[in-house]
Amino acid sequence: MAHFVVIGAGQAGASLVAKLRNSGFDGEITLIGDEAVPPYQRPPLSKAYLLGDMALERLFLRPESFYADQNINLRTGVAVTRIDPVKREVHLDNEVIQYDQLALTTGSAARTLPASIGGALQGVYTVRSLADVDAMAAEFKSGKRALIVGGGYIGLEAAAVARKLGVEVTLVEMADRILQRVAAPETSDYFRTLHQSHGVNIIEGVGLDCLTGETRVSGAKLVDGTELEVDFVIVGVGIAPGIALAEAAGLEIDNGIAVDAQGRTSNENIWSAGDCASFEMRGARRRLESVQNAIDQAEAVAENMMGAGKTYTPKPWFWSDQYDVKLQIAGLNIGYDNIVARRDPNGAAVSFWYYKGETLLAVDAMNDPRNYMIGKRLIESGKSPAPSAIADPQTDMKALMKA
Ligand code: FAD
Repeated sequence: MAHFVVIGAGQAGASLVAKLRNSGFDGEITLIGDEAVPPYQRPPLSKAYLLGDMALERLFLRPESFYADQNINLRTGVAVTRIDPVKREVHLDNEVIQYDQLALTTGSAARTLPASIGGALQGVYTVRSLADVDAMAAEFKSGKRALIVGGGYIGLEAAAVARKLGVEVTLVEMADRILQRVAAPETSDYFRTLHQSHGVNIIEGVGLDCLTGETRVSGAKLVDGTELEVDFVIVGVGIAPGIALAEAAGLEIDNGIAVDAQGRTSNENIWSAGDCASFEMRGARRRLESVQNAIDQAEAVAENMMGAGKTYTPKPWFWSDQYDVKLQIAGLNIGYDNIVARRDPNGAAVSFWYYKGETLLAVDAMNDPRNYMIGKRLIESGKSPAPSAIADPQTDMKALMKA
């Protein structure tokens, strides 16, 4: 009987094994994860779960019984230490598992600050795993002073939760503006204003020099000489793809584990999907760090492990929750040269439409699910309404989809 082994029991790994069974694979399946718990969703970690608004059980992607019912051998709390691609072996601490086909869904790890600038002091946290969030939750008490390093989505979401719980927040971003890596200045401005209106002290264009304290963090120095007193620190400075096993096994690495359009790595029996996998898209090797990509790519890989030969075509979308604002993003804004704003004259809804010339690339929609959905459908069907039509408040947006 064929044995398919999947390393990494996160979003992609869980989706992959479920899809294998769903597609009729009747061989042996082993899903191995180094975290102590069954696969869970990460987005609530910096949102409802951190706020204390979501029970632990609701984080899990499937009830634990699902894996036994589906005859999936779920191994939690065990790390794979090595892959032997010649002998087709996966090595754990005291065990060797033989595979016929292997998938790497090892995700990514939060980047940390070096110990030399205080990154290893107590009270300094990253937000990647359930264990990370459980460790920091007790810090989120009214009146405490938090420093958030990094103005990306995770840092901003943590800032919103902290403010809701009465924590004083300073957020420092080294780049000229928050969200610089991922969004247009218009979206940065929107979220800067939002956070400032909730009392966050946002400092942009200034890097962190170091964190200070004996064993526990108590202060921070910025490169412009500013000194801050802090009670705890959240570091949200990006992620590094989980390439270690693949690299040691001699697989091609290029901005992540390099896969082809089907999700196959440079070894014909090894596949990869999710945060760790990089693939050709719009002229470069890219990784998409999102739930949607993890699910869709993993499902495509599952079918391809069974010989389907399907090409994976990403349909990027992403979301973020901050205070009472829901941001939804459709498409990829890479290469945009023009932004068109559409504002609801009677409400708070606003959307920013990214164009390259006359081609619609992406939409950021704030509390605007209707225009998000319209934008998503337009992008997926390759339609590009004239930018002037989007900006015109008189335009019937639904009619654009029929044009
Ligand atoms: P992961 O879910 O990280 O799973 C990888 C698993 O592999 C991990 O459990 C890891 O411990 C395990 N592993 C690694 N190496 C080994 C090994 N050697 N042996 C055994 N196990 C191993 N995306 C959105 O689309 N919208 C959001 O709002 C959003 N919010 C987010 C908020 C937070 C706080 C975080 C951390 C992420 C968020 N994301 C969001 C991103 C999204 O969660 C990820 O893109 C998604 O989880 C990627 O899935 P994955 O399976 O590739 O990786």
